[in-house]
Amino acid sequence: MIIIVNTNIYYPGRIGHTVAEETIIPGEEDVDRFDRAKRIGWLDMKAIAGAKVLMVGAGAIGNEVGKNLVLSGFRNITVVDMDRVVNSNLARCLFFQEIDATERGLKAEIVAAGMRKLDSKVRVKAITSTIQEQGENFIGRFSLVLGCLDNVLARLYINSHCCHFGVPYIDGAMDGFRGKVQVVIPPDTPCLECGMNRSHSRIVEQRFSCTGNDVSVFIPKIAADITTTSVIGALQVREAMKLMSGKSENCISNVAYYDGLSGSLDILEIEKNSDCLNHALPALKY
Ligand SMILES: [Zn+2]
Repeated sequence: MIIIVNTNIYYPGRIGHTVAEETIIPGEEDVDRFDRAKRIGWLDMKAIAGAKVLMVGAGAIGNEVGKNLVLSGFRNITVVDMDRVVNSNLARCLFFQEIDATERGLKAEIVAAGMRKLDSKVRVKAITSTIQEQGENFIGRFSLVLGCLDNVLARLYINSHCCHFGVPYIDGAMDGFRGKVQVVIPPDTPCLECGMNRSHSRIVEQRFSCTGNDVSVFIPKIAADITTTSVIGALQVREAMKLMSGKSENCISNVAYYDGLSGSLDILEIEKNSDCLNHALPALKY
């Protein structure tokens, strides 16, 4: 018989306190890769493993989200990104090495390869393209979409298609030490367009000018650092774990704003916009 001793630092008053007694074989609990996660009672590791996850964007946030997805037990992941690695990616992307920037490697391929190295049982498919090029029905094949993007247009494309197909969408964004996460669970919650501000609308209007000309819009690069990236990527995958474990009532149904300078996390409540066309479309599943 072995007495299990609780040494959890978050319960200092209970250090050394005997919390349970049972017969165990020393080392047995270390055989299972997900032994520690399974000790979180409400986590549905089977549902997490069975989820078909789409990750759009394999840049800074995508590297963090990809790593977290694999380590959290997601087994079936598709990565979409059209871009190649450059030197300025190397300061905040776990899976990118100097040689990837030198050779201008494909982000989706490199992130997918890195994810497979973390766990050989994970199926990761890499697709090098824009999300729009994958066709109208592509998003409907997935259980869940995580947005790791740096542009409004792709976000809105995913948002509207997720609303149409009834697929939950977890969107992450950041700017310097600030970041935000929004969870869209169609048809219950507000979507990205419900909370869009005027500057977003202006960008969309410029891009889709009705003059017939394709208008070029210069959008400056966004300030970013790895610590904020890590926080936002972690929040996104945590929401994914809750969703797949049937804990949607515990998800961020509004927008979570993280301010790394003050160390605060605030929830901004938004409401469904009655004029938002995404809610007039039928949710087909979930
Ligand atoms: Zn909406």
